[in-house]
Amino acid sequence: MVDMDTIVSLCKRRGFIFQNSEIYGGIGSTWDYGPLGVEMKNNVKAAWWKAVVRNREDMVGLDAAILMHPRVWEASGHVQGFSDPLVDCKECKQRFRADQVFEVYAVSPDGKEEYFGGALAQDQGDALNQVRSKTPGKVKELEKKGFTWAVRQPMTDGYVAPKKCPLCGGELTESRQFNLMFKTFMGPVEEEAAVTYLRPETAQGIFANFKNVQMSSRKKVPFGIAQIGKSFRNEITPGNFTFRTREFEQMEIEFFVKPGTDEEWHKRWMDDRWNWYLNLGMTPERLRWREHGKDELAFYSKATSDIEYLFPFGWSELEGIANRTDYDLKRHMEYSGKDLSYFDETDNESFVPYVIEPSGGVDRATLAFLIDAYNEEEVRGEKRVVLKLNKDLAPIKAAVFPLKRNEPRIVEIAKNLAADLRQTFSAQYDDTGSIGKLYRRQDEIGTLWGITVDFQSLEDQTVTLRDRDTMEQIRVPIDGVKKMLVEKMGSC
Ligand code: ATP
Repeated sequence: MVDMDTIVSLCKRRGFIFQNSEIYGGIGSTWDYGPLGVEMKNNVKAAWWKAVVRNREDMVGLDAAILMHPRVWEASGHVQGFSDPLVDCKECKQRFRADQVFEVYAVSPDGKEEYFGGALAQDQGDALNQVRSKTPGKVKELEKKGFTWAVRQPMTDGYVAPKKCPLCGGELTESRQFNLMFKTFMGPVEEEAAVTYLRPETAQGIFANFKNVQMSSRKKVPFGIAQIGKSFRNEITPGNFTFRTREFEQMEIEFFVKPGTDEEWHKRWMDDRWNWYLNLGMTPERLRWREHGKDELAFYSKATSDIEYLFPFGWSELEGIANRTDYDLKRHMEYSGKDLSYFDETDNESFVPYVIEPSGGVDRATLAFLIDAYNEEEVRGEKRVVLKLNKDLAPIKAAVFPLKRNEPRIVEIAKNLAADLRQTFSAQYDDTGSIGKLYRRQDEIGTLWGITVDFQSLEDQTVTLRDRDTMEQIRVPIDGVKKMLVEKMGSC
């Protein structure tokens, strides 16, 4: 699998993703989507919106504001409970999430355990690898003597904070809870009464609007509300490129169902969301389910299953599908004093709906699609880098090249063709290299088709159409190219 450095450098070189404020040295884990990145991210969002809103009878959309009444966050439990355990190293001054610190112990043949090293890791295997690779000589020596290894995650295994810094071995402070919400002030006066928060999830905008949406759209339960938008979390340890950042975009659905039907709907949404990734070309072997254990479940959740992707840094969450029960609506009823129950005309009864929430990250999905699409192949003794992005996701669908850029008749046809294609889908004109080079450049950004205008085009009004994946070339009439490509793409 491709490593992260290769992806990060491709993203920068070709204009998918840049470091934010780079000319000032950058700012912690914030990233900007460049010309190709914004096209691709928009395509991810459009594919999601199409699948979960436009193509469904039982879904509608919403675009709620980022800033909300501060009481919302009291009702949702975020003011009280949206926090991570934080520890600081007294020596190197680094700060960690205590629940991400792993400890590795060397276990002697007679069963005595001694602390050997620590790591900030994804899982036990990763922690062991990290610690072993720091002092391979010592590891070998101990293993020769029959020592084995035990890996612990203190916060999870024994609910005690780790004591030693995983980086320098220095002493760690006691763990303390750190609220992940960004606090800000409404209006010109920075006083406690004006405090509000940047939303840490889009979901609450949906809950607060449940009645507005239901009444105005006249939807009957079961139905759902979808929203895409920015969320903010003051993550203690952001990282892995755009995987974990402090400002990110979410694609969330709150699907309202009658209590008692929630488990069945949970399963249905799990299938739907899994298939969405597969339909967009994700490698099935790099996807898996991870069900949250009882001790890990959010307090409001009856069950949660995550779709995980095998990133170069290990299996990590792409999306969570949770059964949030009636927790949120009931809390908003309590805090707002408004009735958010639903009257079911068929059964002539009133209830507070249960909620199934498929909640995914736009940035994580975009990153996973990029990684999944990355391929290196050998073609006639040369390396070809190609992003085999699904047709709906590719930022540029077609690129048109003139075989000779100093032949005005060829250039004119190529420019006109690109201009015409652009009216229907994203297309580029490029004459800044030899045809071979231009094909390679487009392969690297996932462009589906390369179209070359040559001398023959002047004679018979045909062009060469090259397919990104098969590299097969066929001749097609200029005036039939657009129709053919639109047909190949289906509805985008
Ligand atoms: P994690 O365990 O990785 O912190 P989470 O379980 O807290 O994630 P949720 O609250 O379920 O995440 O948020 C739903 C989705 O939003 C996640 O599956 C992920 O795709 C995205 N997301 C959450 N936090 C971040 C972040 N800091 N950066 C980028 N995407 C995020």
